[in-house]
Amino acid sequence: MDFRKSYQIFRLSIFLFLALCLLTMITYIVAFVILGGIVFIAATIQAAVFYRCPHCRANLDFRRKIPNFCPNCGEKIGE
Ligand SMILES: [Zn+2]
Repeated sequence: MDFRKSYQIFRLSIFLFLALCLLTMITYIVAFVILGGIVFIAATIQAAVFYRCPHCRANLDFRRKIPNFCPNCGEKIGE
């Protein structure tokens, strides 16, 4: 998988998790927040696997936005 796509999925899962938390607060159905937790954990695992430098395969920090240059090999990976 493309590292950009992986990053977008991770970001999307954060919003999905927050939305499902909100839904739980409104409906009192705990299954929503559990589902959100599962989605978030799955997204974190895929980010750990796929969010890597396309040149040297070094792990990138998915808590930050996509850097312009790889912190490991220095190759350009941003826009
Ligand atoms: Zn690299």
